[in-house]
Amino acid sequence: MESGGKPSTAQIVVLATSSALTAIFYSIYRSKAKTVSRLKEAKKVSIDQDLKGLLSETPGRCVPYAVIEGVVRSVKDTLSSQFVDSCRGVIERLTLKEEKMVWNRTTHLWNSTEKIIHQRTNTVPFALGSHDDDITTAVRVIRPLDAAELDLETTYENFHPTVQSLSNVIGHFISGERPKGIHETEEMLRVGDSLTGVGELVLDNNLIKLQPPKQGFCYFLSRQDYESLLKKQENGVRLWRILALVFGLAACSTLLFMMWRRYVHCRQSKKRRSMMEEFKERQRKRLRELNLEESSVSPTSCTVCLSRERSCVFLECGHVCACAHCYQALPEPKTCPICRATIDRVVPLYNS
Ligand SMILES: [Zn+2]
Ligand SMILES: [Zn+2]
Repeated sequence: MESGGKPSTAQIVVLATSSALTAIFYSIYRSKAKTVSRLKEAKKVSIDQDLKGLLSETPGRCVPYAVIEGVVRSVKDTLSSQFVDSCRGVIERLTLKEEKMVWNRTTHLWNSTEKIIHQRTNTVPFALGSHDDDITTAVRVIRPLDAAELDLETTYENFHPTVQSLSNVIGHFISGERPKGIHETEEMLRVGDSLTGVGELVLDNNLIKLQPPKQGFCYFLSRQDYESLLKKQENGVRLWRILALVFGLAACSTLLFMMWRRYVHCRQSKKRRSMMEEFKERQRKRLRELNLEESSVSPTSCTVCLSRERSCVFLECGHVCACAHCYQALPEPKTCPICRATIDRVVPLYNS
């Protein structure tokens, strides 16, 4: 117990880090789990001729959290892909990403990183219609860019590599940054795509709207169907739960280990104290038997006979407490008069 049973800095750091991470992961897990349970409870609504009637009978003409599956239909205009002919959509996102290699001074490796240098998203008003062309009911999608989950289809992708000259290459090695090139993508939500929307459904002046739900609920617009969307969210919840559990266990075991070390240390020092008390009691008894005053005994005299000088070291305990004569007279198996440890070896002490 060199540390005196006190926790080491490393142990405190491990405990603090794992506790903090557990708290963070647990709160993420809680919010994701809440999102999933709300998603499960959301009312499934189908786009048909009765939808308007259903909404007008609902209090407030609104379903606070509804799931609706339909086909993307343009309201007036459409956006054309800048790269693919006859590809028309309602959301178009152009992204330019710079890819480069950055030298990591710690690991001594080149790491690939990317940074968005330009992004532009164009939208036009659009609606969700039924898969059945005979049904004319449509649900207008409001503020689609606010959706937590908006997966668009990549319609175009191109990579423009950076032209490297020798002097550039040397410069890159000095600066620790090596540009690879520019990655250009175009993503779209195309007319005719199947879309699952989860949000607030309202009937506003004869127009059915799907809009971001109230605080605390997640707005989803996904090209996946409802079941896949739910499964994806559930997988996310599982991941955060496992992370919270792993780090929680690490924090608990570190804490238990620290408490156990402290307990062992306390028990040992208590044992040592009681042995010292016992030894002093024995010595007082001996002084009384010999009719001696405590002050008249030299501090270096043998603790057994109280007359001769101490002259041997007991190993492994290391106590110097007896003369050679008294050591010889100790009963077998020989133990140290102070700590009761078994005497393995005796080293004579020479006072010069
Ligand atoms: Zn002695
Ligand atoms: Zn001893």
